[in-house]
Amino acid sequence: MARTHISGFPRIGAQRELKFAQESFWRGESDDAYLKGIAKELRIRHWELQRAAKLDFVAVGDFAYYDQMLNLSALLGSLPERFGFDPAKLSLTQYYELARGNKAQPAMEMTKWFDTNYHYLVPELGPDTTFNGGVDWFFDEIDEALALHLPVKPVLIGPITYLWLSKSPVPGFDRLSLLPKLVIRYMRILDQLKQRGIEWLQLDEPALCLDLNEEWLEAFKAAYDVLGVSGRKVLLGTYFDTAADHAPMVSQLPVHGVHIDLIRAPQQLQVWRTALPADKVLSAGVIDGRNIWRADLGEIAGSLDALHAERGEHLWIAPSCSLIHVPVTLACETKLGAELKSWLAFATEKLDEVSTIALALRDPVAAEPALAAADAALDARRASGAVMNVLVQRRVASITDAMASRKSPFTARSSVQRHSLKLPLLPTTTIGSFPQTPAIRQARAAYKRGKMRALDYLERMRAETASVIRKQEELGLDVLVHGEVERNDMVEFFADKLWGFAFTENGWVQNYGSQCVKPPIIYGDVYRPEPMMVDAACHAQSLTERLVKGVLTGPVTMLEWSFVRDDQPRSTTALQLALVIRDEVIDLEKAGIRIIQIDEPAFREGLPLRQEDWPAYLEWATRAFRIAAGGVSDATQIHTHMCYSEFNDILPAIADLDADVITIETSRSSMELLDGFVEFAYPNGIGPGVYDTHSPRVPSADAMQQLLERACDVVPAERLWVNPDCGLKTRGWPETEAALSNMVQAAKTLRQKLAESIR
Ligand code: GLN
Ligand code: ZN
Repeated sequence: MARTHISGFPRIGAQRELKFAQESFWRGESDDAYLKGIAKELRIRHWELQRAAKLDFVAVGDFAYYDQMLNLSALLGSLPERFGFDPAKLSLTQYYELARGNKAQPAMEMTKWFDTNYHYLVPELGPDTTFNGGVDWFFDEIDEALALHLPVKPVLIGPITYLWLSKSPVPGFDRLSLLPKLVIRYMRILDQLKQRGIEWLQLDEPALCLDLNEEWLEAFKAAYDVLGVSGRKVLLGTYFDTAADHAPMVSQLPVHGVHIDLIRAPQQLQVWRTALPADKVLSAGVIDGRNIWRADLGEIAGSLDALHAERGEHLWIAPSCSLIHVPVTLACETKLGAELKSWLAFATEKLDEVSTIALALRDPVAAEPALAAADAALDARRASGAVMNVLVQRRVASITDAMASRKSPFTARSSVQRHSLKLPLLPTTTIGSFPQTPAIRQARAAYKRGKMRALDYLERMRAETASVIRKQEELGLDVLVHGEVERNDMVEFFADKLWGFAFTENGWVQNYGSQCVKPPIIYGDVYRPEPMMVDAACHAQSLTERLVKGVLTGPVTMLEWSFVRDDQPRSTTALQLALVIRDEVIDLEKAGIRIIQIDEPAFREGLPLRQEDWPAYLEWATRAFRIAAGGVSDATQIHTHMCYSEFNDILPAIADLDADVITIETSRSSMELLDGFVEFAYPNGIGPGVYDTHSPRVPSADAMQQLLERACDVVPAERLWVNPDCGLKTRGWPETEAALSNMVQAAKTLRQKLAESIR
């Protein structure tokens, strides 16, 4: 009989209890006993949900006070030395200092977890790193679950993925040299599980779904040849892509089972089915851990029938990956339409789906009612008039290649723009948002709750815009923005004005630490019934003689940061979004806005894990952007903005977007990121960020001027722009004004210097 399990459950709580407890702890309003109490309650609640769904195991070890990678560093004892903490005695306060920084030390670096929008804390390892053990939280949680007589299956990130995702402050340091020590530490952990009578440990190695070179694959073998013979059973977890190319190697290892992601890579099933000996567990990830649609349970069960007959209890059923990427439960959704709601499954509902599939394999008759309910929901979704919009389909069908190109090439456009826009050398600008003050947030909350009338709200926002415009003029910026005062989120703001999108009340997904996002759901063809931000942009432009840049979110980012429909290719949805943005851009141009920025911070995030899949993604993503931008005349200047990602390996695609100007985040790496653009000879305008907007620190004008001079050495000044790394919405006004004033000063000084050197 097939067995059931999950790789992890969202830890934040259905009402974001963990977030609120964390933040109150940070503010010093509650002590660690309170926070630990909430954490325990949540863990128990989530385990009980798994028990109630009759899963054969409950996942333990998926809880973290901030992030699972940080928890692993705390368990292994490999904390960044610069903090000077004793790993065995790490307090919660110190744990949070690692995550958020303290007076003496900046926080550990945070970066995106594979191709998700979840951010983990990057381990900092060096030649002196030891893994002599840290806090016992992991074991305490296991004991907690054992005390409740739960069938415990602990989950940890495996040693290879841990090393792969780490970095070293020591240049040239070979992280793999730490592997022997690290494996010894994992062996100790397995020993401690043995003492507790635990049978299985799941070690997640999503790195196995990347293109790994020989050296890393050898390391993989070396590690699991040891870990596999510990006396405990090891389930090797892979997800987010195929691991089929490693099936022959993995099948030789003494591990006892492998979990594979059959949502992202269904084609790998056949390979594993033949490669993996029948006495080993094959865990089939058949419920989508990354999306929120109800599954076709009957079809999934049918597809596993033969495998079940072959493997019996060595077939495990699971979601494709940890459920941390989906909201906790549909039960909290009171406003979602009943029809749409019946098409969805969040984490809690997915537990039942997993269990139903196992039941269908074991006892089809008993599973009949649940399968019939799933069928009915799917039939209703397929037939629903809410999904299909003929106008949109016709529009998509009539897209031409010409729509994906500007009228003239960049050099011709740029000379037209130089004459019409009359900007100085090294023009200064910002990325779009300005500080979202408590007053703005309160007004928006009141308006949303129906406590403030629409007209009053509009007036408040207009007054804010006016003040933002005035401040930018006083600062002496060259290209102004309207400040995004009315936007709480750059995707939700636009999605809210479109057809085909739905919003949850409580569909929160952890983004990093206590930060959660509520991705909109794209359920139908995307249609723009009327302009979305033309009024706001025109109002801003009417307040000043200077140019106001219109800022809107690009099609790829709209797609990446939403839950996307699974009944058509992502590329089709991207085209629909591209048309919507295109229409808005054209309307902005008609209304007199002459510089338009199409933000694509998530452009890189959508890149597949396997390089062989890159060209296909880059093709449609680039086309979507070009369609969005391609409707305007040569005189209209198109900007784009990207940040916090590794661009260097996709520079040809970025150049192919053919934006007149790209602003990127570079200050944290002291312009290192720019090197790639230079090496590649990036042809268009570029604004490398001159200061970090994620920190309240105000850099001096001198420091920014030095960065700019470095940029000038490698990019002709005529193509350089001066701007911060990213938007300013999380900053306060005092530091924003101080930093921008220094930035403008730096640009002016350098302009002068350049003018003198020409003379
Ligand atoms: N225009 C957005 C802002 O300024 C861009 C945000 C982002 O890059 N994530 O906030
Ligand atoms: Zn940004």
